[in-house]
Amino acid sequence: MRTRLARAQQALRDQDVGALLVGPSADLRYLVGYHALPLERLTLLLVPAAGDPALVVPTLEAPRAVDSGATALAELVTWEETEDPFDLVRDRLVAAGVAEARLAVQDQLWATFTLALQARLPAARWLPGGTVMRELRVVKDPDEVAALHGAGAAIDAVHARVPELLRPGRTEREVGRDIAELILEDHDEVDFVIVAGGPNGASPHHETGERALEVGDAVVVDIGGVRRGYCSDMTRNYAVGRLPDGYAALHEVLEEAQEAAVAAVRPGVPAEAVDAAARDHLTAAGYGERFVHRTGHGIGIEVHEEPYIVAGNDLPLAAGMAFSVEPGIYLPGRYGARIEDIVVVTEDGVARCNHRPREVLVCA
Ligand code: ZN
Ligand code: ZN
Ligand code: ZN
Repeated sequence: MRTRLARAQQALRDQDVGALLVGPSADLRYLVGYHALPLERLTLLLVPAAGDPALVVPTLEAPRAVDSGATALAELVTWEETEDPFDLVRDRLVAAGVAEARLAVQDQLWATFTLALQARLPAARWLPGGTVMRELRVVKDPDEVAALHGAGAAIDAVHARVPELLRPGRTEREVGRDIAELILEDHDEVDFVIVAGGPNGASPHHETGERALEVGDAVVVDIGGVRRGYCSDMTRNYAVGRLPDGYAALHEVLEEAQEAAVAAVRPGVPAEAVDAAARDHLTAAGYGERFVHRTGHGIGIEVHEEPYIVAGNDLPLAAGMAFSVEPGIYLPGRYGARIEDIVVVTEDGVARCNHRPREVLVCA
């Protein structure tokens, strides 16, 4: 993490930014490993372009900040209940000589904090912290890649047990609760559980509900959790008892599209080319209009982050980038299908984090 802070400071100097101000967020976890609570009391990491970072926290949160190890990387600065933390931040930025510089504010810092800081620092110029953080976080370091592979293996193990849960008469919600428990066997948190049976599968972000599974249902199961700070996210399709009419052929086309998209991944290729690989295949098969979302999203500390695998994103892929490849076909009123794996760009191609079979699994 010392390397990450150093790289952030280098990015600040390169972009002529005086300091980066980071509240509770994925960026804070990334830079100093502190999982701060989003509270009305100000917690703020000050990263100056040069000099030592400081972590401003309310006194009552100081023990958590110390436990996280963050205070080994940034000077701990506490404020009492009756103090004004914004004055304190201003004074430190004045002392660092950057009160009139360009200041980058972390993308998710609350408006109440940002506006208070702007009122104290009227001569500063403001920009979103993403301008600085994006380039850092989009390329994963080896520890992060290992964490993503670990999360991938953990969610693979959950999918391996999904077939035993899909029985006619059980509701999506019942199945979803069982899956959530399985996720917790080797994750620290459940992030989301989508169980979409029959016609519900045609809604990509269907909310798991009270519909009972029936024989002949296709079921889209898209699940993810957080393991050691990194996210999993994986989709497979199942059928209850038997495949519905036309599903086998549709699913085969989808498998080919997903395979084509993964095969397109390598350093130097623009992100949008991966989307095109999946989309062209589905379009040629007549499903172009039934693939209603982008092909993928970056993943790491957050389940949706850069890079986005979408038409119009010409960002060249680089080794260490990690994202989902998840084409889908949705036939309203009938059923849907989506196949999703997480992949990491390697020096000479691609590695998958998920290894379960991709074909549709008929549950007896
Ligand atoms: Zn999604
Ligand atoms: Zn997903
Ligand atoms: Zn996803």
